[in-house]
Amino acid sequence: MLKLYNTLTRKKEVFKPIEKGKAGIYSCGPTVYWYQHIGNLRSYLFSDSLRRILAYNGFKVKHVMNVTDVGHLTSDSDTGEDKMELAAKKEGKKAGEIANFYFEVFKKDIGKLNIISPWKFPKATEHIKEQIELVKKLERKKYTYETFDGIYFDSSKFKNYGKLAKLNLKGLKAGKRVSIRDKKNKTDFALWKFSAKPGEREQEWNSPWGIGFPGWHLECSAMSMKYLGNRFDIHTGGEDHIPIHHTNEIAQSEAVTGKKFVNYWLHGAFLMHKEKKVSKSKGGLYTISELEKLGYPALSFRYLCLLTNYRKSLNFSLENLDSAKNAYIRLKRRVADIRKQRHKGNDLTNQYSKMFLDAVNDDMNLSKAVDVLWKVVDDFDFEPRKKIKLLERFDEVLGLGVKDMKEEHVKVPAEVRKLIRAREQARRNKMWVEADILRQRVREKGFILEDTEEGVKVRKL
Ligand code: AMP
Ligand code: ZN
Repeated sequence: MLKLYNTLTRKKEVFKPIEKGKAGIYSCGPTVYWYQHIGNLRSYLFSDSLRRILAYNGFKVKHVMNVTDVGHLTSDSDTGEDKMELAAKKEGKKAGEIANFYFEVFKKDIGKLNIISPWKFPKATEHIKEQIELVKKLERKKYTYETFDGIYFDSSKFKNYGKLAKLNLKGLKAGKRVSIRDKKNKTDFALWKFSAKPGEREQEWNSPWGIGFPGWHLECSAMSMKYLGNRFDIHTGGEDHIPIHHTNEIAQSEAVTGKKFVNYWLHGAFLMHKEKKVSKSKGGLYTISELEKLGYPALSFRYLCLLTNYRKSLNFSLENLDSAKNAYIRLKRRVADIRKQRHKGNDLTNQYSKMFLDAVNDDMNLSKAVDVLWKVVDDFDFEPRKKIKLLERFDEVLGLGVKDMKEEHVKVPAEVRKLIRAREQARRNKMWVEADILRQRVREKGFILEDTEEGVKVRKL
């Protein structure tokens, strides 16, 4: 039984799909005006783990992740500049070029992290028609009104507005966030914004209300319903989306359909650095390529994220990442060794499978699942070939690339081979200081020497 923590009820609940054996997930994806930092990527690792766990439990998964390429203003509500337009001006390019460029980088980055590509990656600019249709329906149902700068959703007309964030409690300090201007209620939000002067913006479209662009929240309702239906199973995003973005998605979607929009809302906690949220506006700390340049394999970041439950904030530091990297490299070596083992042993598949499933099905307790993985690795009684099979099965959830963990065949350049031979000579002559210096020089060339019973082994750094 898979249990997931539902923000809607603030409880762990048994996952019951709308359609037997199937699961529809929608994840709020990247706003493609800049690189995705490791905080953003933590969010996608979380939704990837979720979809992997659903598949592991036998569900046929449809995963949709949107790509925001218009309408996300510098504040998450309706004020500030459009992030895409701003980036286009800064880089002296077209908004479309910016979007394509950062979307391509994003796809590469998630590939490096073994994040399974979603079934659909719909872009907001390619669904303007659907968004306008949604506003028309809301208009017909009298949920909208017009102000000087757009068409707004009247949140006072929607009975349960704010139920996700429990807004009337202390969830949202709406009054502090938005000035009312001529909105009727503080929590009303833009469905369609007018261009201040038509032609001034690069991205604008005709609509029944005037030239403009869709409000940011609208795309997620329009595109999720298009691909997953008016009601679907799971919606994910970062915890910052609870009070505004997801609250508004629920309001406008349920106002249109009169039905419950989503059954399970799951939110990932932040990646922090020195007690502060990592955010793009403050530079974003690292991208995955930057970590790679510093010598950290992308999957060591995935390993690090697995160790903290998605509902807890993760305090990132290079020291943490160092230990994750070491553990990940140790795992690679151990798995490669197990592949060569031929000793006899028992089939312990069932007992460990159960432990693993219990962990992942308890609201995605992946750190416990990693513990089980290590128990399996370390269990000498477990017949090696069966063990490998099970580790590969676990990896369908963990995504650490167990299938690729094999003995490395390293190509050692001639100059490094020469250094290794010189070191051997020095060791035979008991010239330990020289031997150490030579080992260091080999390391500087990117190779590590390990003295084993079978002689010296060379590995890539
Ligand atoms: P954005 O590209 O800014 O729209 O953000 C994409 C996703 O990353 C959203 O789901 C955010 O909630 C999430 N996110 C942003 N900052 C962080 C962070 N520091 N840690 C985890 N998730 C984050
Ligand atoms: Zn969204």
